[in-house]
Amino acid sequence: MSENQNIGSLSGHSKVVSNKKMTFAERIYLPAIFGGFAITLSHFFKKKVTVQYPEVKRPFSEIYRGKHVLKRDDEGRERCTACGLCALACPAEAITMIAAERKEDEMHLYREEKYAAVYEIDMLRCIFCGLCEEACPKEAIFLTQEIVPSNFHRNDFIYGKELLVEPVDKRVDISKRQTPEVLKFKLDKNQSHNT
Ligand code: SF4
Ligand code: SF4
Repeated sequence: MSENQNIGSLSGHSKVVSNKKMTFAERIYLPAIFGGFAITLSHFFKKKVTVQYPEVKRPFSEIYRGKHVLKRDDEGRERCTACGLCALACPAEAITMIAAERKEDEMHLYREEKYAAVYEIDMLRCIFCGLCEEACPKEAIFLTQEIVPSNFHRNDFIYGKELLVEPVDKRVDISKRQTPEVLKFKLDKNQSHNT
């Protein structure tokens, strides 16, 4: 028994290398080359698996998690109170924010006394796990079905409030990704953060 055969494989997937001599057909490679051509040719007649993105898009899973949205309440005020729980829950440390105190003439802009003057998500760090959404006590952040588009510069992947807060006149429907139980909970005015 050779020395090599005595060494066990840690993964248990070791394979003994064959010393079998190649046949004439194997040595001239032609059968293997034509076999490869045949496989390639056979794909011409099969149903294409590629799609002409972005003109054609594949249907997403109903629970697909894409770009985030910072929600407003029914009166158009930003829901986020800059509590930082989303940033704390984020395993990728993708969220940063700077909190500020609401002034008297800003009551119509921010729902809570404290709000996020700066709120940023680094989409290159984000793994779209949805933990920020789960951690938020104010129903302020949700993941949507929107894809984060590709870009040429790393800085352009840092999304600030201008890209995250939903427009007042163009609300983002996040209800599709919610289970009936969650939706019922969110409509329950007895829950303090729904009022
Ligand atoms: S989806 Fe996950 S990784 Fe992305 S910002 Fe939220 S918590 Fe962080
Ligand atoms: S999005 Fe929610 S969890 Fe994050 S800081 Fe705002 S209120 Fe807190």
